[in-house]
Amino acid sequence: MTEPSLRLFNSLTRAVEPFVPVHPGEARVYTCGPTVYNYQHIGNMRAFVFADTLGRTLAFKGYKLRHIINITDVGHLTSDADEGDDKMEKAAARLGKTAWDIAAFYTAEFKRDLKWLNVRDPARWTVATDYVPQMIEVAKAIADKHCYELPSGLYFDISTVADYGRLARAATEEGEGRIDEVEGKRHAADFAIWRKTPPGETRQMEWDSPWGRGAPGWHLECSVMSRAELGLPFDIHTGGIDHREIHHPNEIAQNQAMQGFDAEHGHLDCAQNSGARLWMHNNFLIDRAGKMSKSSGDFLRLQLLHDRGYHPLAFRLMCLQAHYRSELEFSWDNLAAALTRLKRMVMAVAQLEQRHAELGGAALPPRDAFGPKLAPLIERFDAAISDDLNTAVALTVFDEALTLKKVDPAEKLAAIAAMDAVLGLDLLTLDRADLRLRPAAATIAEADIEAALEKRKAARVDKDFATSDAIRDSLIASGVEVMDGDPLGWEWRLENGA
Ligand code: AMP
Ligand code: ZN
Repeated sequence: MTEPSLRLFNSLTRAVEPFVPVHPGEARVYTCGPTVYNYQHIGNMRAFVFADTLGRTLAFKGYKLRHIINITDVGHLTSDADEGDDKMEKAAARLGKTAWDIAAFYTAEFKRDLKWLNVRDPARWTVATDYVPQMIEVAKAIADKHCYELPSGLYFDISTVADYGRLARAATEEGEGRIDEVEGKRHAADFAIWRKTPPGETRQMEWDSPWGRGAPGWHLECSVMSRAELGLPFDIHTGGIDHREIHHPNEIAQNQAMQGFDAEHGHLDCAQNSGARLWMHNNFLIDRAGKMSKSSGDFLRLQLLHDRGYHPLAFRLMCLQAHYRSELEFSWDNLAAALTRLKRMVMAVAQLEQRHAELGGAALPPRDAFGPKLAPLIERFDAAISDDLNTAVALTVFDEALTLKKVDPAEKLAAIAAMDAVLGLDLLTLDRADLRLRPAAATIAEADIEAALEKRKAARVDKDFATSDAIRDSLIASGVEVMDGDPLGWEWRLENGA
């Protein structure tokens, strides 16, 4: 059996390409992390589920993974096009706290959401403010050839690198979509790699530099951290599709400058010198009600899904049901459907575990020892994820494996474990009771529901239907739906919830 080789979509070439690691046997991945000035919305979380699925797939394919995710705690302005205020300073002023406290609080909240979604920790979290001395060194090294100074900061001249904006497919000179508010900029798309603190102002986060006190530009941060942790070139750089337009083209321009490939040297193909072999982007999670924008105030967070009674892994499954390059629309109905699917999976695995235990609980066989029924399924699963992470197809193969008849339970469990290592749904440890979250607004206690249902059962045995109906009506009045004959064996659920 030959392993299907991994093929991934490269945004730089807009083509699916075979994955060929820079260092044989290894996969080095950098993911643009959150700007920690606020909570992450569930759209942001889709970006990290995608990056995690990529990392899990690389590990499944046998690569030694080194994954870096950064925390942007300085330098990201309110507009990606380098205009406006620093998001962190603005949040600090709004909340009356220090920028450092804000960063610590939202970083912890973000990491809690990742845990809920079973997103694995990267090899290292790089925090932008820890790398400022290195950023200054890089800025110094490229300043003469690629930058110019203005009263507001040190700017990168995009005409000094070949093929600027190739990733975005944007017109070079116009710098599509940019607003040229900074006087003296040579091209609209030129961007600040160091922003000076305006005279007379003091920022909470500022450092001395050859260009005066100030802070690094957001784009410089990712270039410097990815190079410091992974070396250039590394294998894969990921982010949401919005980063394809400005942030990543600017990172690429800096990477070209850092590596010494510029227009003068005639290296016209920036794809060769972008810093990463592959640039991958997840498409957006959208919400018709506009709740995916942080400026909307009450935007959609994982916490809200949880409080409404949806297990966070139902959200992970919802993401996996779509291809990462497709737009995905969030709706409560989609989420409820994903939760039902997850429940079915969890119950099937629990039954299997029970049978396995009844048969003596033999050790699970290794992945390469699957018999004639499971081996082809694992191969199809492998082929699906190797086809630019086609998780939707991989999930249908997984479902097939679950329903496969006349297979040794130990072997089946081993196959499920192997596939779940990629899906990250925790199927071997999740219990169906874990999936029943209590909506935060629910007032009735679980023990009271169970007690009422016991009484109702007894009434029905006695054919006392008046009592049985009265109990059901009072439960309904408390927001509890009684689920007689539910195919999944659930006896009740809280309205609005799971
Ligand atoms: P930010 O904290 O704004 O830097 O965003 C963190 C990550 O979420 C980045 O990779 C963004 O590209 C990504 N992102 C932002 N909005 C969405 C969305 N609605 N759907 C999917 N990814 C998103
Ligand atoms: Zn970045």
